[in-house]
Amino acid sequence: MVAENIQTGPQAHLLEAASLAARIKQEVQVEIETMVSERGVRPCLAAVRVGDDPASAVYVKNKIRACEEVGIRSEHHALPEATSTSELLKLIAFLNARDDVDGILTQLPLPARVEESAIIEAIDPAKDVDGFHPVNAGKLALGRPVFVPCTPAGIIELLDDSGIEIRGANACVVGRSQIVGRPMAQLLLQRDATVTICHSRTRDLPAVTRNADLLVVAIGRAGFIGREHIRPGATVIDVGMNNVSDAATVASLFGRDTERRLEIVAKRGYTLVGDVNPAEAAEVAGKLTPVPGGVGLLTVALLMKNTLKAARLRRG
Ligand code: NAP
Repeated sequence: MVAENIQTGPQAHLLEAASLAARIKQEVQVEIETMVSERGVRPCLAAVRVGDDPASAVYVKNKIRACEEVGIRSEHHALPEATSTSELLKLIAFLNARDDVDGILTQLPLPARVEESAIIEAIDPAKDVDGFHPVNAGKLALGRPVFVPCTPAGIIELLDDSGIEIRGANACVVGRSQIVGRPMAQLLLQRDATVTICHSRTRDLPAVTRNADLLVVAIGRAGFIGREHIRPGATVIDVGMNNVSDAATVASLFGRDTERRLEIVAKRGYTLVGDVNPAEAAEVAGKLTPVPGGVGLLTVALLMKNTLKAARLRRG
């Protein structure tokens, strides 16, 4: 496999997400071994996927693989595209009722005709290891979190592990989705950052983001955040995961890494880029997360941690 770490300019330092993710998984593994040997309990995660979206299939495969690594038992319920909301609700009810299942995740997005909010709300909040259920979102908003969405929780762990001060920082979150932007803002607020949330209707986005010491971007637009959005020396956390294949776009994003990225495109058909222009950010930012090899790895590690937590809370 070809490594895709970006080459940074003289200033930006790449934040070490991969080693932190490995450490978190190792800690989970040790605790699970203890749980199994002392109490005969092995946590179980049920992953539910509907349809044939290739990206969703890869994400679920990575989560199942991580379960194997840490010793969590896993089940993969892969349902056909034609599955109805009521069929899916029946499966969720079955998984809720099973005492041996500790965590339930439904891989998003679900097909358009499935009522996503009904499915999320049907999951037992005690098994909601993704932290998307309104009860868990509400508890987070009240400052009493139980299950926190894995991506923002992983970002907080990365900031702490990298010694980046959150308290008092001017933090800006671009994107207000239920799964990343909103919970990210809540977590930063809870840690005493001064938080600004931006979205597609924000006026003069660069003027707002340029105030940030800490900029978290989750918008789903390849390389959208450029030099003009970043305060010199800021910490930039890039949540985005986008495929690019067009040669001119690749050249505009990767600077001196362009040739290697084009080789990856020739081999695989695409290369991955976040929501931040990596070449421009490397010249301006102080610290930066790579894509791939950044936030995505932490998301999976935190899912393992949440599943262990669910097993502990449920089984006493
Ligand atoms: P989403 O639900 O599509 O939400 C996108 C958000 O970005 C919305 O709030 C939208 O504003 C805002 N936005 C879109 N265009 C904008 C613009 N030009 N300026 C400012 N704000 C803009 O996205 P998501 O689920 O949060 O995912 C975002 C990205 O993160 C995607 O690339 C996704 O693949 C990636 N992701 C990665 C991980 C990981 O583990 N690395 C996990 C989850 C998601 P409005 O609300 O006004 O529409």
